[in-house]
Amino acid sequence: MLQISQRINAMAASATLAMSQRSNELRASGVDVINLSVGEPDFNTPDFIKEAAKRAIDNNFSFYSPVPGYMSLRKAIAANIEATEGVTFAPEQIVVSNGAKQALCNVILATINPGDEVIIPTPAWVSYVEMVKLAEGVTVEVPAAIDQDFKITAGQLREAITPHTRMVLLCSPSNPTGSVYSRDELQALVDVLKDYPDILILSDEIYRHINFTGAYSSMATFPEIRDRVVVINGVSKAYAMTGWRIGFCAAPLPIAKAVTKLQGQYTSGASSIAQKAAEAAYLGPQQCVEDMREAFERRRDLVVSLAKEIPGLKVNEPQGAFYLFPEVGGFFGKRVGDRVINNGSDLTMYLLEEAHVATVDGAAFCLPGYIRLSYATSDDLIREAMRRIKEALAALH
Ligand code: PMP
Ligand code: GLU
Repeated sequence: MLQISQRINAMAASATLAMSQRSNELRASGVDVINLSVGEPDFNTPDFIKEAAKRAIDNNFSFYSPVPGYMSLRKAIAANIEATEGVTFAPEQIVVSNGAKQALCNVILATINPGDEVIIPTPAWVSYVEMVKLAEGVTVEVPAAIDQDFKITAGQLREAITPHTRMVLLCSPSNPTGSVYSRDELQALVDVLKDYPDILILSDEIYRHINFTGAYSSMATFPEIRDRVVVINGVSKAYAMTGWRIGFCAAPLPIAKAVTKLQGQYTSGASSIAQKAAEAAYLGPQQCVEDMREAFERRRDLVVSLAKEIPGLKVNEPQGAFYLFPEVGGFFGKRVGDRVINNGSDLTMYLLEEAHVATVDGAAFCLPGYIRLSYATSDDLIREAMRRIKEALAALH
């Protein structure tokens, strides 16, 4: 008998990646599927970044890199954080990894002991809970539904804290909701956290540049908690570089060292060529980031206005990222022919198989009764997808 470990058996597969794969398979079999499941920019990586990667190959950046990344990249990241957030991290506090995903998992594995509690506001990105499980930590979910714009309050946070709490994992702009915490809202959370010096704040700021509010506060900008904030970011979303696999943590030095130790035994430094591309991204002209941000904002307006025209969908107005998280509970219990829609999984399957639009069940983000749509696609495909969804939902009785 081949054994699979309990650790892996206990883990759920990534629902976002699974749904995207299913949609790609259906497309390969000739079905015209619109994929609103996976969250990644549809833009190509800007040319000046691609050129830097080509130069890196020609200049023989083909050897192992230092485990935490090239010092030149870590300096470029520190300079970028200083310029965008107005806070200083030493390059030694930056550890570059294979995407923000590994950066997050590194920090969790490097800081969480079995039984430690990690507070996660939900809905939350699919991988957080599984990463905490991997570290044998205990997730404490703090739910915030659409009626509170998917944002937790200071009171909810205080109530969730116990003597076992070791981490709070925040994500703003949020995947899967697009909600963005204002500085005042974050300050209220900080006012709670400042009373608990043993809690690490892990702040996933990967959508930081895809923000429509005109204002942004990194968690690292609050002096009361500054020495125990870990910021996660990377090039995947801001520079349309999901496949290059470069992310980082900016952390207190002992955590950066622990993460480096883990990474040194596990994956070594990230791809040398991708690192040189990321360095060019951070040091080069930043207009591409703004251009893509504007495109996402326009698409947000489009998808929200179309969603509002669909009877039975309840939507808010997301302020960042590229996701819409409509409430769909009203369709549960309905049917079309022999098909009964009992939950979000049934509904997303129905939309995939009948409307040929791939979405993700809200249950994968710890909030059943919703679905997630990624609108990082063209205006035409957004229009067509929403037309199909409207038609398919209208057929349910
Ligand atoms: N955090 C969030 C909230 C995300 O949506 C993603 C995208 N999958 C990641 C982290 C990981 O990004 P990457 O590994 O591509 O840098
Ligand atoms: N963050 C993206 C998403 O939520 C990419 C897929 C993943 O890594 O889970 O769809």
